[in-house]
Amino acid sequence: MNTGDLAGAIRSIPDYPKPGIIFRDITTLLGDARAFRRAVDELVQPWAGSKIDQVAGIEARGFILGGAVAHQLSAGFVPIRKKGKLPHDTVSIAYSLEYGLDEMEMHKDAVEPGEQVILVDDLIATGGTAEAAVKLLQDLGAHVVTAVFVIDLPDLGGRAKIEALGVPVRTLVSFDGH
Ligand code: AMP
Repeated sequence: MNTGDLAGAIRSIPDYPKPGIIFRDITTLLGDARAFRRAVDELVQPWAGSKIDQVAGIEARGFILGGAVAHQLSAGFVPIRKKGKLPHDTVSIAYSLEYGLDEMEMHKDAVEPGEQVILVDDLIATGGTAEAAVKLLQDLGAHVVTAVFVIDLPDLGGRAKIEALGVPVRTLVSFDGH
């Protein structure tokens, strides 16, 4: 199928990775040329023509979308990775997952103070992951102009967490539940 319909291009997998979770799989969207292009176009649309310095993507699906967004905006790309993956001097932040803590890192010199940055990931659920990423960027002095996601799970309240940091959120498709 190659219709460009975003919601229809996302595959929902019940009880993955554990019972009760519906995994929203974007590999089908990425494999649908029109849907992939449309998702990237819609994510960047409010910022077309603006001066964006860097696009930061959260490992791993945020790399795919973020790379395309950066190209579209003629911006640089900054990877935000799981602990231990980046080779140079890093800053890190711990954040809570459903069970326990995790840590994400970025290179200290990846953004300059005052740079205009867009954060990208595939999906926002509780917002814990994106909140940590925004804090890392803001601590380095970046101006996070927006955080964008293809998918919102509004019942989990992530948007409010990001907006509380002064960062507007843009999402393209919403699904009820989690
Ligand atoms: P959260 O920190 O709760 O907002 O979770 C967001 C992160 O977990 C993103 O990087 C998503 O890729 C992933 N994630 C959380 N829930 C789902 C889900 N139902 N389907 C696919 N990915 C998910």
